[in-house]
Amino acid sequence: MLGSVPAAHEPEVLAEAPWLRRFPLRTPTLPPATHTNVYLLGQGELLVVDPASPYPDEQKRLLCYLAELARAGHRPVAILLTHHHLDHIGGTAALQGALGLPLWSHARTAERVRALGLQTSRLIAEGDRLPFSPGGLLALHTPGHAPGHLCLIDETSGHAIVGDMVASSGTIVIDPDDEGDMGEYLRQLGRLRQHGPLHLWPAHGASVVDGAGLLDFYVRHRTAREAKVLWALRTLGGGGIAALLPLAYDDVSPQLHGLAARSLRAHLAKLQAEGRATVDETGRWQAIGPG
Ligand SMILES: [Zn+2]
Repeated sequence: MLGSVPAAHEPEVLAEAPWLRRFPLRTPTLPPATHTNVYLLGQGELLVVDPASPYPDEQKRLLCYLAELARAGHRPVAILLTHHHLDHIGGTAALQGALGLPLWSHARTAERVRALGLQTSRLIAEGDRLPFSPGGLLALHTPGHAPGHLCLIDETSGHAIVGDMVASSGTIVIDPDDEGDMGEYLRQLGRLRQHGPLHLWPAHGASVVDGAGLLDFYVRHRTAREAKVLWALRTLGGGGIAALLPLAYDDVSPQLHGLAARSLRAHLAKLQAEGRATVDETGRWQAIGPG
C-alpha cells in the first residue's frame, strides 16, 4: 500500500533508490528481533551484504530472489560482511557454494570468520569506495559492537547500510565478552551522525528515514544509562555486578537481566577506561571523583 511502512520481516525497495534492496531472512538472532536483513546493492552488478540465515529454507528464498534479480539483468559479484556475528554470516558458505562468490570483509572480521571456515578474498578498509550505488558506496570502519564492523554510505543520497550500529527492531548489545567496546561504539555513532541527514538501513527491522534522529536517540539512551550506572555506584557506595544490576536496570524486566549484565559491564569498562570508576580484585566496582 502506498505510503505504508513495511514490516520488519517484509522486503523493502524504495522507488527513489531501486539499487538498494532489503530482503529479511529468519535467523537465530536476539529476541525480540526474528530476522536479519540481507541487502542486495547495485544495478547490473550486485553486492550481497550479510547472507544471514543458516536455515536451508531461508537460504532457498534468497537464491530464488537472486534468480529473479538475474532475470532482470542483475548479477551478484561478491558477498560483503558487515561483521562476524552468526546471525549475519549464517548463509555465507551456502551462498558461496551455490554461486561461487568471493567474500569481502574488514580485516578484523576476516580473522574471526576464518576460524569458521570462511576465506575472505578482499579486505575492505575505512575510506574504500565500492561501485554499487549511483554515487558509489563509502566504507566506514565503525567498531564498538564488533571490532571489524563496517557501514556503507551512499553520500549523494544519504542512504546508509549500518549493520548492527542501530536497529529498528530489537536492541543492540555491546558485549564485553565478544570484544564489544561501549566507548568506541558511542564514538562511532557520533561519527555516523556527522555525515548529515541519513536514511538508515539496519540489519534488523525496516529502514529509518530520520536516521539522525535515531542516532541521537541511541546516544541519549546510552548516556542516560551511563548516568544511572554511576548513580547506582554512588548510591550503594560501590558493589559487584549482581548488586548494581537491579538498581541500574530497574526499568528492565528481570528476564532480560542476563543481557543487561553484559551491557552493565560494558558501561563499567568505559567508565574505568575514562578514569571514572575502578574495580578491585573481588569484582567490586567504585565510582571515582565527586558525584
Ligand atoms: Zn551483531
